[in-house]
Amino acid sequence: MSRPDVIIAGGGVIGLMTGFALARAGVRAIVVDSGMPAATDAAAGMLAPSFEGALRKAGDDLAAFGRRSLAAWPQLAALLAERTGVDCDFAKGVLSAAFDETEAAAFEAGHEGGEVLGREAVLALEPFLSPRVVAGRYSEEDGQVDPRRVRAALLRAFQQDGGRLLRERTIVEIRTVNGRMDGVTLSDGERIGAGAVIVATGARLPALVDAASGGALRPLLPEGALFPVKGEALALARPAGGPRRVVRTKGAYLCPKSDGRIVVGATEIAGDWSLTTDDARVKALRRGAVSAFAALEAAPEIARWAGLRPATQDAAPIIGPALGADGVILALGCYRNGILLAPATADAVAGLVCDGRMDPLIAAFSAARFNPLGVS
Ligand SMILES: Cc1cc2nc3c(=O)[nH]c(=O)nc-3n(C[C@H](O)[C@H](O)[C@H](O)COP(=O)(O)OP(=O)(O)OC[C@H]3O[C@@H](n4cnc5c(N)ncnc54)[C@H](O)[C@@H]3O)c2cc1C
Repeated sequence: MSRPDVIIAGGGVIGLMTGFALARAGVRAIVVDSGMPAATDAAAGMLAPSFEGALRKAGDDLAAFGRRSLAAWPQLAALLAERTGVDCDFAKGVLSAAFDETEAAAFEAGHEGGEVLGREAVLALEPFLSPRVVAGRYSEEDGQVDPRRVRAALLRAFQQDGGRLLRERTIVEIRTVNGRMDGVTLSDGERIGAGAVIVATGARLPALVDAASGGALRPLLPEGALFPVKGEALALARPAGGPRRVVRTKGAYLCPKSDGRIVVGATEIAGDWSLTTDDARVKALRRGAVSAFAALEAAPEIARWAGLRPATQDAAPIIGPALGADGVILALGCYRNGILLAPATADAVAGLVCDGRMDPLIAAFSAARFNPLGVS
């Protein structure tokens, strides 16, 4: 195999989006993906920075990064459709519905975007929503995609631009020599050399091994900096009388897809590495959906699943150079919003790789914030 310029560890939405950006820029990139379940395939696909408290909580930089990434999606979805023939099911419009005065009052308190609507206006948008609704907040700019289609389209576009994929191969170690990235080792012992490696492995992490100091292993990030937050979701068959667009309620969110499914999500269980679904929790999601749209009472369940959101202590991603390992770039921890954040993340990482450009917004997402001892 000819030596790539860049190895990308992980072929979820972050790895493939970054691979596509690099391949378009003429970089010889190879994505290595283990085939372990990707959070990307579990995601509902909302692009909803106006509604995601997790983005705001993590600070202004992440909120701005989310809005920038949202702005890239319409053109990106069109480009992927044109290039690959895969329709990412991009659709605009997200409504958050309040069913009591306390929830409605929260809409009036500070928020990122969208317009607060009275009951009549909400029902005009979503005529089949429960008449118990008292108010809503609507953003025409926020929207959704189908993450599995996005992943398929990105892979195709990446390969069309000369990118290569190693499927079902796991990177167990990133090798450094005197603090400089030298290549990766796969689980079958094969070694691949490259100038840089981008770590986009979701909730899981390969280790760093320093070949110059007798093969000492060290973690890429301090213990606990990255952890899984399991999310369970289900898909219902879309009935007449269901939602027309993404509808978020306190009990569940509902994402109607053009293929006839409504994706209903999602639970949050921190630290759980299992991919099992709990019947009681899935039923609670379904109850939440039915209380918003009565027509869903009889809707057959098509599937249920779980995925591992890659989360960090402060809910902000980790994007930028790894500490003490030149040539290792991290693109991790997009938590609840990796589909939304993928275009801006890929752009920031491609800028770093191609011309050393450090996007000022990603300074706040540096791995250094998890390094109280100041190791560099
Ligand atoms: C139920 C649920 C609902 C969600 N809904 C939304 C939503 O509506 N909107 C939104 O924006 N986000 C949503 N998310 C979050 C989103 O799914 C994640 O933030 C995003 O998918 C993370 O992408 P990633 O590429 O970082 O990780 P992943 O998608 O997990 O991809 C990582 C890839 O790396 C591979 N890998 C791991 N280790 C190795 C290794 N050592 N070597 C090689 N390959 C490796 C894995 O096999 C995997 O394919 C949701 C998540 C869940 C679970």
